[in-house]
Amino acid sequence: MIDPLQWYEYRVVLHVHSRYSDGSGSVPEILAAAQAAGVDVLWLTDHDTRAALADPGPGYYGHVLCLVGTEITPPTNHYLVFGDVPPIEPSQPFSEIIRHVASFGGAGFVAHPEDRGNRMARLPSYRWTDRAVDGFTGLEVRNHLSDWSREITGLARGLWAALHPYLGLEEARGDVLALWDTWGKTRRVVGIGGTDAHQARVGAFRIFPYRVSFRGIRTHLYTPRPLPRDWRAAEALLVDALKTGRASVVNAQAGSELGFRLWAERHGDRIEPMGSEIAYSPGWKLCGLAPVPVFWQLYHQGILQAEEPGTLFQWPLTAPGVWRVVLRRGRHRTAWIYSNPIYLR
Ligand SMILES: [Zn+2]
Ligand SMILES: [Zn+2]
Repeated sequence: MIDPLQWYEYRVVLHVHSRYSDGSGSVPEILAAAQAAGVDVLWLTDHDTRAALADPGPGYYGHVLCLVGTEITPPTNHYLVFGDVPPIEPSQPFSEIIRHVASFGGAGFVAHPEDRGNRMARLPSYRWTDRAVDGFTGLEVRNHLSDWSREITGLARGLWAALHPYLGLEEARGDVLALWDTWGKTRRVVGIGGTDAHQARVGAFRIFPYRVSFRGIRTHLYTPRPLPRDWRAAEALLVDALKTGRASVVNAQAGSELGFRLWAERHGDRIEPMGSEIAYSPGWKLCGLAPVPVFWQLYHQGILQAEEPGTLFQWPLTAPGVWRVVLRRGRHRTAWIYSNPIYLR
């Protein structure tokens, strides 16, 4: 049993593109931005290449651990891959791509599943289309670029959005949350938050510099041991956190504190961490802890069940299903953290 209060928590920016695909930054430049943004892990995911493995290579740079995944990129069904997984042709059937990643022990996530593209911003739709497949680790519940581009609804709004890179981060998108809650009814489907940082250049302008992207959507990962200095061992711990749902999706614009924890307990002697699938029986309660006073919202099967202010949260789990919380804070009750669920089966 892992006592969730004893977890180690890491601020991770994942889904990041460098010059090795369509990002504009070199890896050293991106690392400098990650260091300045105060994150612990930078997880690069260039389109269909792991070139960053050779240059400069994974490892610690100052306090930042740099790891190299990929974004497998067919025309739709983009798939984020973490772990030591050899490349695969993106033209393979999506089911084969998922199977390939799983067979190497990697964690795979459907990227920006409800992306609509944006004609104003000349972004095509990269929506997840092949929904009959299964076997993926989870979904990108939040994607900074995709969430932001949905705000561009006209020319004036587009100009406004260009000046406000954090527009659209106040709330996760309802259609993506609904998709997540629906998949979770049958199995654990892990939610993560990606930056999709590219630092696009338009003339002399940089849209979404890395330093801006890294202060937006992050994924916090929780491990039972501190990350070792050996990057391979550290990567294995983080991939395990991704696979088991020991992850929260954080809007760093609303706060970057560590200390959120979520678990289920029964009669005080059985404790199961966030992400667990538990056989239902009466007596389970959900417990949450926040580092600052927040406004808690509890969802069961995607339906709001309870709302409460405070730093501690407790609620009886009275039925089987998917239970997760949202932490809100500030004057406008901005969505700060989306937990992964606890599943009662
Ligand atoms: Zn993509
Ligand atoms: Zn991407």
